[in-house]
Amino acid sequence: MTSVVNTRMDFDQALERFEPVLGLETHVELGTASKMFCSCATEFGGEPNTQVCPVCLGLPGSLPVVNAVAVESTIRMGLALHCDIASWCRFARKNYFYPDMPKDYQVSQYDEPLCTNGYLDVTVPTDDGPREFRVEIERVHMEEDTGKLTHSGGDTGRIHGADYSLVDYNRAGIPLIEIVTKPITGAGALAPVVARAYVAEVRDLMRALGVSDVRMDQGSLRCDVNVSLAPAGEPWGTRSETKNVNSLRSVERAVRFEIERQGAVLSEGGRIIQETRHFHEDTGETTPGRSKEQAEDYRYFPEPDLVPVAPSSEWIEELRTTLPEVPSVRRSRLQVEWGVSDLEMQTLVNAEALDLVEETIVAGVDQAAARKWWTGEFTRIANEQGVALADLGITSAHIARVESLIADGSLTDKLARQVFEGVVAGEGDPDSVIAGRGLAVVGDDSTLMAAIESALAEQPDVAEKIRSGKVQAAGAIVGAVMKTTKGQADAAKVRTLLLAHLGVEG
Ligand code: ADP
Ligand code: MG
Ligand code: ZN
Repeated sequence: MTSVVNTRMDFDQALERFEPVLGLETHVELGTASKMFCSCATEFGGEPNTQVCPVCLGLPGSLPVVNAVAVESTIRMGLALHCDIASWCRFARKNYFYPDMPKDYQVSQYDEPLCTNGYLDVTVPTDDGPREFRVEIERVHMEEDTGKLTHSGGDTGRIHGADYSLVDYNRAGIPLIEIVTKPITGAGALAPVVARAYVAEVRDLMRALGVSDVRMDQGSLRCDVNVSLAPAGEPWGTRSETKNVNSLRSVERAVRFEIERQGAVLSEGGRIIQETRHFHEDTGETTPGRSKEQAEDYRYFPEPDLVPVAPSSEWIEELRTTLPEVPSVRRSRLQVEWGVSDLEMQTLVNAEALDLVEETIVAGVDQAAARKWWTGEFTRIANEQGVALADLGITSAHIARVESLIADGSLTDKLARQVFEGVVAGEGDPDSVIAGRGLAVVGDDSTLMAAIESALAEQPDVAEKIRSGKVQAAGAIVGAVMKTTKGQADAAKVRTLLLAHLGVEG
């Protein structure tokens, strides 16, 4: 058994001694209605083995047919990534014996990928402001996804220690596009954030293209993270390949961890083993998987049951005209339109709030208010509950409604937060929450004046101070009024009434 005890070197020390090199392999499950080579449905979450047929089960005599929409999506992805598109290429059989693929081979592309030699620019925040990195793309190729194995009976969910394994072929044959980067060098200490920014950019680009729902939590976007270290100026070191990392945060942590682990191994005179590794969300560590010291022989050969893919240049040019505005261009445009700083923009991007803020503005909400809600209160609630912002159940219509109630004085900021709390808790739309919780501003002057007068009577010394011109002392009275009205008064209005009552200039 390989030891799983990891010694780590301090991150900054590791970077003083070594240069990291990254390689990212991103798998994007396409959102086509049917599978890559048959007409089975691709919907997520069906009963196991209900979305299968003789083709994707690999039964003898069945023949695959290429899904034209999948080819079209791949070409559009390649074009968006500035790749060359092959005028002629074939599928290849990748032979291996493992129950996740019932045919005992996976149809993939090997030495004839559909798209090659592209790039994607990503921006990362640094202490000196945003910095752009060009990540070069080696290839974009088509393949079919494998079935899903569930190892039961053990405590890790892995095959070791399991009593038995279950297999679900619903996923087998779903179009899977792999985007492989060239080795990424020169990122230094920014390597973890560059990796994260790249995967985020790929995700946003795929979403803009509409080719996939790119849900990392559902596996429609997965990433293998390759990392190696070498002393500056020396040839690249041996890489580890951390498989199936399934969140942006984990991508960043996995790179960071591998730099710290490999730094420790190398500085103790050890050697990095070429292997796959598993990332553990709970500890932030990676542990060894399968060794790749002996390259596996997949006996690739051209797939004889499928015709070559030969897109005409007319078709490619036609597809080029369907490319959307790329996310980086969109971000710059929105930044100018909204007049926000680099830092504010970064906050929006980090909070993954861009789409939501844009929708909210379209719904008629002031841009500053839209940004404030999504990056402030809603981000806080989302983090607290461990859900995505978009899954909180708050819509742009809700925000527009609450903002209009704030504007006409029916809600204070504090009450508005309680309204959203209720929306998130499933108490209905803002009006239902307001009715259900009895949230209304205590606004009429006589009620407020009564509360002010009783607060003044209770704190005559404070009243005296304010009268003598110490306006700061008004806070104590306002606070007392807010308390008696259970926070349902408009503090600014209370202050104005109070000062007018005492005949003091605010
Ligand atoms: P494999 O089949 O082993 O996954 P791939 O070529 O599909 O190999 O992917 C390897 C990834 O690792 C690519 O992104 C490549 O750029 C990257 N890579 C290659 N050499 C190194 C290295 N020395 N250090 C880090 N990454 C590397
Ligand atoms: Mg790989
Ligand atoms: Zn099928």
